[in-house]
Amino acid sequence: MPATATHCPYCALQCGITLTPERRGMRLEPSDFPVNKGGLCAKGWTAAELLDHRDRLLTPLVRKTPGDRSSPLREAGWDEALELISRRIKSSQQAYGPDSVGAFGGGGLTNEKAYTLGKFVRVALRSSAIDYNGRFCMSSAATAANRSFGVDRGLPFPLEDIARARTVLLVGANPADAMPPAMQYLDAGRANGARHIVVDPRRTATAAGSYRHLQPLPGTDLALANGLTHIAVREGLLDSDFIRDRTTGFEAVRAATASYWPDRVERMTGVSADHLRETVRMLATERPAMILTARGAEQHSNGTDTAQAWLNLALALGLVGRDASGYGTITGQGNGQGGREHGQKADQLPGYRRLDDPAARAHVAAVWGIDPDELPRPGLSAYEMLDRLGTDGGVRVLLVLASNIVVSAPHANHVTNRLNALDFLVVSDIFLSETAALADVVLPTSQFAEEDGTMTNLEGRVLRRRKAVEPPPEVRTDLEVMKALADRLGRGRFFSDDPRAVFAELRRASAGGIADYAGISWERIEAEEGVFWPCPAEDHPGTPRLFTDGFPTADGRAKFHRVEHRDPAEMPDRAYPYVLTTGRNMQQYQSGNQTRRVSSLTVALPEARAELHPDLARRHGIGDSDLVELRTRRGRAVFRARLNPGIRPDTIFAPFHWVGANLLTDPALDPHSRMPAFKACAVAIAPVPEGTT
Ligand code: SF4
Repeated sequence: MPATATHCPYCALQCGITLTPERRGMRLEPSDFPVNKGGLCAKGWTAAELLDHRDRLLTPLVRKTPGDRSSPLREAGWDEALELISRRIKSSQQAYGPDSVGAFGGGGLTNEKAYTLGKFVRVALRSSAIDYNGRFCMSSAATAANRSFGVDRGLPFPLEDIARARTVLLVGANPADAMPPAMQYLDAGRANGARHIVVDPRRTATAAGSYRHLQPLPGTDLALANGLTHIAVREGLLDSDFIRDRTTGFEAVRAATASYWPDRVERMTGVSADHLRETVRMLATERPAMILTARGAEQHSNGTDTAQAWLNLALALGLVGRDASGYGTITGQGNGQGGREHGQKADQLPGYRRLDDPAARAHVAAVWGIDPDELPRPGLSAYEMLDRLGTDGGVRVLLVLASNIVVSAPHANHVTNRLNALDFLVVSDIFLSETAALADVVLPTSQFAEEDGTMTNLEGRVLRRRKAVEPPPEVRTDLEVMKALADRLGRGRFFSDDPRAVFAELRRASAGGIADYAGISWERIEAEEGVFWPCPAEDHPGTPRLFTDGFPTADGRAKFHRVEHRDPAEMPDRAYPYVLTTGRNMQQYQSGNQTRRVSSLTVALPEARAELHPDLARRHGIGDSDLVELRTRRGRAVFRARLNPGIRPDTIFAPFHWVGANLLTDPALDPHSRMPAFKACAVAIAPVPEGTT
């Protein structure tokens, strides 16, 4: 049997793999794709286990007693499940209006599925209620990049440029654990004499291998960045020609950063003034240099402004648009990039167009064959939609695709209560996730190696996901589900369940937009090992590097924005004296719905472990591997302790791959991106005697 070249189902690196059928199951091997060059992490190596996993959903499930979620789920046929869903959609919309039915998507959906979901909600449901879990992931850096650069593409350059940078500043990023094959680019740079600086409250594996580790208090990254810009101004390290010729608005940033004196920033962040000076001198003089942020900097109630402060620094030093240089953000989810380009955001149409832009509405409506006035207005962001589920004016019937909200949403107890308040919940997934277990109807859908489509990785490289095996007989694709539902809602003529046809339509819908895929065909992707957007025509080579000639803003210049530090929405106090921050473990991915079922990953890391400094542990009588209770204003969760001398003594880290961490997190939203404050809230800690949980 032939091998099929495709990509790992997990993170945004989208490592190339080959799948070869064997007598029992599939053999998975890394391929020499330009991204991973033969590398894979433990998650990727074990991904074939998902294909014939005993937990796999193999038929639709409905409640034994309709309307009673305490009754068990029973197997059902597709006709019964789809008929039930369409009946509930119609009755809800008749009683409460179109916006009473909504959808929650995911950054793991292929471009074709994300595009179709956005269209399904606007055209089949005629509802404004759609958002997705990427709002919890990338939205702050995306918002900052859009307002400064006029475009949000996570990395505006290929990964290979990282290997050629002499200085790399990584802020709140831990690729050594989150996407290990990406470390080959950092390692190659170091082997050639590059020096890397890591900003992180924990001494992660990435920090341990760096030249310098800066350990600010969570929630103070903006002050740190402004402090570096202040030093650049004071020490004459600005790139004045770049600022004059290619940007606007620097004087406001110069004024804003004037009060971020090194000793003040040292007091705010805990990073020494000497290290601040060293960092900015390296970025300014040891060129090429780049600044990369990730969720540690961005998942805050001031996440947009924090990303902006780093972006301002990159502009002030003239790093952007130069060879092996610039600012980028490291996307997390598998299709986190493509998933935020084609319409599953509340305010967005395909091609990264805005739903409130009349010209964008006219273009997309023409491609879809509807009147622009039929398109709904922008809806609510992810947490705001979840917060209102089941209320007057809120969504009452919710469709969830590729998202495990019960584990991944902030203030998860509250979100679970809201899900339980729905009139009707439909979840499509490959396993019975914690969210699917609450549903009225569960739909078994295909997974990575069972479907064709495209993904867009963290570099903006559009890739082919290829089908290597048929899905189980009663499993369908999400495209087939949406088409079948649209048929039942009388809108089927607008939809296709053929991914190639959907991609052809996506190309037309995105044409002329910021994320322009018009010139990208599946054939080109195959021949060229991926095509970088924007690619407006078939004879266009694609755009691996952005900003070399200008910025896609009205005047062609990048825009500085003045930003000021403000404290996290919740500060430590007597009752909750420490800072809780959340993040990833190497062996797990996102909510763990897939990776927690992979035996070798579970053996390596069977449970969530909260990390705390030995001094803090001693003060509370906690030893390594003891049970500890973490308590915030929203809830409590028990973890096994891991003593880590590399974490700040005032900070506790909890991984978010299990139910637990997000029972604690703060849903305070960034005013621009609507990103919740996952990375900093006030927490109390106490030992828990064994056997008492
Ligand atoms: Fe590569 Fe990410 Fe998959 Fe690991 S999880 S193999 S880094 S794509």
